[in-house]
Amino acid sequence: MSKVTEIFGSKVFNDETMKERLPKDAYKALKKTVEEGRPLDRDLANVIAHAMKEWAIELGATHFTHWFQPMTGVTAEKHDSFIQPEDGGRIIMTFSGKELIKGEPDASSFPSGGLRATFEARGYTAWDPTSYVFIKDDTLCIPTAFCSYSGEALDKKTPLLRSMEALDKSAVRVLKLFGHDDVKRVITTVGPEQEYFLIDSEMFNKRPDLIYTGRTLFGAKPPKGQELDDHYFGTIKPRVSAFMKELDEELWKLGVLAKTKHNEVAPAQHELAPVFSTTNIATDHNQLTMEMMKVVAGRHGMTCLLHEKPFAGVNGSGKHNNWSISTDTGVNLLEPGATPSQNPQFLLFLTAVIKAVDEYQELLRVSVASAGNDHRLGANEAPPAIISMFLGDELEAIVESIIDGTDYEDIKKKKMSIGAAVIPSISQDTTDRNRTSPFAFTGNKFEFRSLGSSASISGPNVILNTIVAEELDQFSEELEGAADFDAALAELLKRELTAHKRIIFNGNGYAPEWVAEAEKRGLKNLKSTVDALPAFIEQKSIDVFTKHNVFTEQEILSRYDIQLENYYKVIDIEALTMDAMVKKNIMAAANDYQYSLAETLNAKAATGISVDSSVEKKRLQQASDLTVKMDARLERLEADIEKAKELSDTYDLAKFHHDVIFADMNDLREVVDELETVVPSDIWPYPNYAEILYSVK
Ligand code: ADP
Ligand code: MG
Repeated sequence: MSKVTEIFGSKVFNDETMKERLPKDAYKALKKTVEEGRPLDRDLANVIAHAMKEWAIELGATHFTHWFQPMTGVTAEKHDSFIQPEDGGRIIMTFSGKELIKGEPDASSFPSGGLRATFEARGYTAWDPTSYVFIKDDTLCIPTAFCSYSGEALDKKTPLLRSMEALDKSAVRVLKLFGHDDVKRVITTVGPEQEYFLIDSEMFNKRPDLIYTGRTLFGAKPPKGQELDDHYFGTIKPRVSAFMKELDEELWKLGVLAKTKHNEVAPAQHELAPVFSTTNIATDHNQLTMEMMKVVAGRHGMTCLLHEKPFAGVNGSGKHNNWSISTDTGVNLLEPGATPSQNPQFLLFLTAVIKAVDEYQELLRVSVASAGNDHRLGANEAPPAIISMFLGDELEAIVESIIDGTDYEDIKKKKMSIGAAVIPSISQDTTDRNRTSPFAFTGNKFEFRSLGSSASISGPNVILNTIVAEELDQFSEELEGAADFDAALAELLKRELTAHKRIIFNGNGYAPEWVAEAEKRGLKNLKSTVDALPAFIEQKSIDVFTKHNVFTEQEILSRYDIQLENYYKVIDIEALTMDAMVKKNIMAAANDYQYSLAETLNAKAATGISVDSSVEKKRLQQASDLTVKMDARLERLEADIEKAKELSDTYDLAKFHHDVIFADMNDLREVVDELETVVPSDIWPYPNYAEILYSVK
């Protein structure tokens, strides 16, 4: 491997490359355009496009694409080559400013939730110049936003950029109250930790459920799971290690700051964490990371599973969204231990986050809701479906002292008063972190842990940015008019922390007592996607999104529809896959097994041996009973799949799939899994959990 510093960003048209390749004026003009968020003018775009093309061709690129993030949750690209015919059968390689700025993919097959009638099927993609252009697979990829012709967002990038703008405005406004007129921009930063499974492709290819749905729909628990905890941070197997090395290298070339890699809790489970970056870059990079994981795994004969719950009874995969707020002057606004004069400011930002998470807990829950993640949230491994916050002992003590009006000194022998603004530096203690909290303060950032592994991180960050912007605006409103700023601030903090302290919970989020306690506190426990989604279209949500220009009401309604549709379609595909697996192969295996037992019995009986209390007879009875039961459950599932076809409203469909079809699937699975433990493995048509989970040596 060549030197990391050399390969890093080698496939990215980044600032350094731009400086090198663009005429000075063009470089300056581009920087200015990006800083001011203005559209690129055509002449400038032509100059930039030309430089990009020359650079890309030197690196072997032949095509370009507008790389965008439609509501499918994965990225989309349509490749055009640079070639243009010339007289005499020759070609030249061209790429114009127009092609750089705007693309017009035929977008009629992307989900729009009714926003885009098919007669105006074309959407357009527009370059997001805050995210660098890069080369992937010999194609120049231009990160773009994707909108309908009337300007509605059809993707995950547009609202994210809008929410970052909202938070920028609100935070800069608050900072002015503290005399920070030098701050021109505030950004949110994110470092997403990505979990995934790696299995041998040979196993993967034998499982239609993995192929079609990303998770196993059947599978008896293996004799050895994660009980021994020997996988977590364990030695990385050579094949996995080779994969990780190559993945790092590919990501570095793309400018992704891949940093930490290790084994996770479950067998075959691993994690990759990057160094944090601006939220929209982190989002683009996380999409690239997931994509590269799949590509590189393939090169090593392995398949990367990004599903939230590939294996029942085995730890699922999530994504921890480490989130903070920073100024363009380099200050992390969630850093409590900075200079004392900044501490009341920290408390104000902290209070804004606390109030936001409490008031909009349903929206945060919505932002992580999906059919896949339903298998984790609320189950005994991932954070519970109840949203609460962990602050750690020190910060919680400070919050309490503000609420009680007592000196923090009383608690920690250290002096704290808002007016004088002396808060002891809070140590970034990572040892006693609460791993069960969905939303934890971890020293100088918040870690939102409820995200599913396969989903784009855009959604949760759109919500976080928007709701915190809203609270900051409310605070500015109140404090800007205050005669005595310190007194007004102290009053505000006390009032808001008192009102929202119910969201703070430092205990064990997995304990059953927490469910009861949370209910007493009036916290929402939205167990499934179907329970959670309606909160998205409540007036309160529409108000906050429209006020901050993050979503129009139309966009909210369309996204609600897309999410519901996605939910029931996922379950529908799973149900049909189960049906096919049972009918085609599992039933046949059960019958084969019974046939072989019956043959043995007959053969024995023919010799005159009494078979009345034989093992074969017992087994045959058991297999026969299970098969009958399986058949009945299969029939019920099939009948309910038919019933679903009578429904047309998306919510009704989602609810029916949750309440009825999903329940049928679980019932069917239960008996199939039992059958699997009975039928010999050479007859069973699919590799079992142990074979899959320990397939990578
Ligand atoms: P854990 O103990 O939860 O695995 P790590 O230290 O491995 O934590 O990962 C924490 C993640 O948080 C990393 O991706 C890191 O870059 C990110 N992070 C650190 N500081 C910030 C910040 N100010 N804003 C956003 N993310 C941050
Ligand atoms: Mg973490």
